[in-house]
Amino acid sequence: MKKDSRKNDIANEAINALFMLAGETKSINDERSKRYVTIAEKIATRMDITLDRSIKRSYCKKCKTLYGADTQVRLSNKILVIKCANCGSLKRIPY
Ligand SMILES: [Zn+2]
Repeated sequence: MKKDSRKNDIANEAINALFMLAGETKSINDERSKRYVTIAEKIATRMDITLDRSIKRSYCKKCKTLYGADTQVRLSNKILVIKCANCGSLKRIPY
């Protein structure tokens, strides 16, 4: 099956825009910020797009909160551990 790259481009653009909006609204309206992240995730799922590594690491998958200055980052045994300041869930990234 031929991949529709133009459609993917548009979807990617929308996802990037949504994450930018989410970042901008985070300090003003947390709920709206989370909604932007949720919508971006939905687009990615529907379009079968893998989110950018940088995007994937920028938010909590559990509560959709973008990581910020209050996020705890730890290094242990070759694993980067990010703790969500909102729900406390941990994300482990091997490096
Ligand atoms: Zn969280």
